[in-house]
Amino acid sequence: MQQVAAPVAHERLAAVRREIEAACREAGRDPHAVELIAVSKTFGAEAIEPVIAAGQRVFGENRVQEAKAKWPALREKYPGIELHLIGPLQSNKVRDAVQLFDAIHTVDRPSLCAALAKEFARQPRRPRLFVEVNTGAEPQKAGVLPEAADDFLRACREEYGLAIEGLMCIPPQDEPPAPHFALLAKIAARNGLRFLSMGMSADFATAIRFGATHVRVGTAIFGARAAGRGNH
Ligand SMILES: *Cc1c(COP(=O)(O)O)cnc(C)c1O
Repeated sequence: MQQVAAPVAHERLAAVRREIEAACREAGRDPHAVELIAVSKTFGAEAIEPVIAAGQRVFGENRVQEAKAKWPALREKYPGIELHLIGPLQSNKVRDAVQLFDAIHTVDRPSLCAALAKEFARQPRRPRLFVEVNTGAEPQKAGVLPEAADDFLRACREEYGLAIEGLMCIPPQDEPPAPHFALLAKIAARNGLRFLSMGMSADFATAIRFGATHVRVGTAIFGARAAGRGNH
């Protein structure tokens, strides 16, 4: 019996890439200025390998433990993988995170800055750092409040010696994302930051219009995740 043909990973990936290119064209931006992060949280190697085979090298995970279990073996097998942490980082997981990840998108509090600075004094790896901003000021969500962002960024630099390169946000689910993307871009511009990590499966084209340099796309590439897993 033939299996029912689900859209395969490389077709989904190609469709997302085409949409990124179209959004860049419309916005008058260079498509190479937008990095696609394929968010592989909750998916195992058997789902990830076809996406690597289709040419994708940049992946995002939201849990340090899960990434630690999955990625070292995949990295041995496929050179050139770049891994981004897009979920909350507990201070006691900082050592693992610095060893595993090439970028951390969720710097959001002084105690985490202190833990990162301490770890950087011990090992040479320097993941690229983004500060998460809670643009919707949602009480249940991580991230610094928009009005506290400038001071926090200054503290990262001056008190902890951390080179922050960008900002990240996750807009509230029940609101149009555009004002949140615009706010993040404004905070980045006035602080001289180059990178904007914003836009997920439902809204990455909008995010690109507002200057996203990193879009974090899971469902549109891997399909739906099992309910309740990996969703914040
Ligand atoms: C899961 C997740 C994504 C990807 O979401 P999709 O809607 O599946 O594209 C992006 N960013 C963060 C922070 C996530 O946790």
